[in-house]
Amino acid sequence: MNQKGLLLVISGPSGAGKGTICKALLEKSEFWLSVSSTTRNPRAGEVHGESYYFISKEDFKNRIDKGDFLEYAEVYGNYYGTPKSSVIEMLESGKDVILEIDIQGALKVKEAFPEGIFIFILPPSMEELKQRIIKRGSETPESLMTRFKSAYKEINYVSKYSYAVVNDTVNGALEKIESIVIAERCRVDRMKDTILNSREELIHEQLYD
Ligand code: 5GP
Repeated sequence: MNQKGLLLVISGPSGAGKGTICKALLEKSEFWLSVSSTTRNPRAGEVHGESYYFISKEDFKNRIDKGDFLEYAEVYGNYYGTPKSSVIEMLESGKDVILEIDIQGALKVKEAFPEGIFIFILPPSMEELKQRIIKRGSETPESLMTRFKSAYKEINYVSKYSYAVVNDTVNGALEKIESIVIAERCRVDRMKDTILNSREELIHEQLYD
């Protein structure tokens, strides 16, 4: 029987470096990154269908009504949602899936998929986080303050996650995530089929020795 894929859910405050980490993880491994739908406008360089599916509020509401989203949330005044059918299809076919979503969304996914691997990315320090948000240069002084204040609040939610990874260097963070994935694959509750098969083989050998 086909083993189901792993569901990796990655969250963290603005400036913690989730996006960079997910990109690097995709280059090194066979994970499939789910592309969300959003009502926010594309930023320079963002491509429809790659970064996000950029859709209107009306379209987003229709999709909510049709039950198309595994979860959705309002983040900084825009809506973001994870497509349900493609994520479930990928997991069922044995593909490992990454969701890079905010905390509200991750908590909803946790209710539906408690077997998911929930990882919170932390900055090395709050000062470093501030510097990273400033360096991005895409924020006005007001939105910078909003993102920084909400980062403080968001960090309190780390206790709802199974793992916290400090992003001091991208390679260091990647190594930690890869180790988490290896350990998760060895969990007895994920290896029921393999263990049952080995047990049956042993019983069989004892009977026919
Ligand atoms: P940005 O606008 O900077 O791309 O994303 C803003 C926030 O929305 C980030 O924290 C990102 O992880 C989150 N986000 C992106 N896609 C989804 C989604 O499908 N669902 C939820 N709940 N959050 C998302």
